[in-house]
Amino acid sequence: MAKKFIADVTVGGRRVFVRNDFNVPLNPAGEITDDTRIQAALPTFRHLLDNGASIVCSSHLGRPKGKAVAELSLAPVARRLGELLGKKVLFCSETVGAKAEKAKARLRPGQVLMLENLRFHPGETLNDPAFAAGLASGIDLYVDDAFGACHRAHASIDEITRHVPLAVAGFLLRKEIDFLTLAAENPPDDYLVILGGAKVSDKLPLLEHLLTQADAILIGGAMAYTFLKAEGMDVGASRVENECLELCRDLRRKADERGVRFLLPCDHIVACRIEPNVTLRIVRPGEGIPGEMMGLDIGPETVEAFRAEIGRARLIFWNGPMGVFEVDAFSGGTMKIAAALAASAATTIVGGGDSLAAVNQAGVADRISHISTGGGAALEFLSGNQLPGIAALTEA
Ligand code: ADP
Ligand code: MG
Repeated sequence: MAKKFIADVTVGGRRVFVRNDFNVPLNPAGEITDDTRIQAALPTFRHLLDNGASIVCSSHLGRPKGKAVAELSLAPVARRLGELLGKKVLFCSETVGAKAEKAKARLRPGQVLMLENLRFHPGETLNDPAFAAGLASGIDLYVDDAFGACHRAHASIDEITRHVPLAVAGFLLRKEIDFLTLAAENPPDDYLVILGGAKVSDKLPLLEHLLTQADAILIGGAMAYTFLKAEGMDVGASRVENECLELCRDLRRKADERGVRFLLPCDHIVACRIEPNVTLRIVRPGEGIPGEMMGLDIGPETVEAFRAEIGRARLIFWNGPMGVFEVDAFSGGTMKIAAALAASAATTIVGGGDSLAAVNQAGVADRISHISTGGGAALEFLSGNQLPGIAALTEA
């Protein structure tokens, strides 16, 4: 069912609550190291301000577990948002209660007020109705632009929608839904999925679902080693989840039955330790990985095989780096796959925090069709699950 969209409703003169995903990375000095998520939120802010709304916004940041944690304050985010918008963003150190009420009541059209980190209040993750009612107090319109949090039934995502007259999707959420719906519901023929990253257990439900939709699945990263071990290969000291071996065999069998091309790495960059200047070896097709060594990147023949698949695809979804891309010595495979995606004529969708970092590191972010701001949420969406945050919005 389609949901109401911000562009279809009157916003002028209204006091609008915008739920953002400003869960940005901070360095030890408390400075924002990547403001992609703040930049991505600007179209909704500009639309509301241009059309005479006043804005109350907030987000979660980190995991403060229901109490105030000074290092996780949204105050630096308010400052950065103000710089990007070119206007002062007011800040309130409370989310609900007298102080927040007063700040909201004083707000004039064209002004922006940011409330403190929603997770400083225990009611947020508990989806608490009283907390949600407090957030909704004095609000005429709720706008959800926090795709990265939509897979959580939290108070500012789910329960709040039952305390406001109207709950709609913002521009960022709408863009996420449009691109991911294309992949989840109407994938074209030649739909290629590339999965990598750390843990296979995180991604097995997604893989199971994708087997019914994709034409080809490429596996890299640490998760490949659980599949390779399941097939009897010597994987040395590579990262393996032994409790998933049977499920991996099962998935592989299902892929064969359905005629889905399922490619695992055929060669590997291996080393004894994850360090910049450690001695590397290439393990060639047919060889095993020596006992003390770990597979840390896909090898050159695998890159070629994966490139060939990328070249014939019309839609590509990529989640999870092909190796330990944070260390230069093991970043080659991930960088080459990122470049191949950028060069391809296919519609390309990348999801996941580390995958996003990898695409930025490769310098190709502007040549990817859609970079999802939500890692877990994107995987849930593509697994065919309803996201509580989207389900809660007003029907169009
Ligand atoms: P995303 O955040 O994009 O969803 P993940 O969090 O699943 O991706 O995985 C990213 C992590 O996987 C990175 O920290 C990377 O170093 C690690 N990784 C990738 N390949 C390997 C490997 N072969 N061995 C160990 N870790 C790996
Ligand atoms: Mg990650």
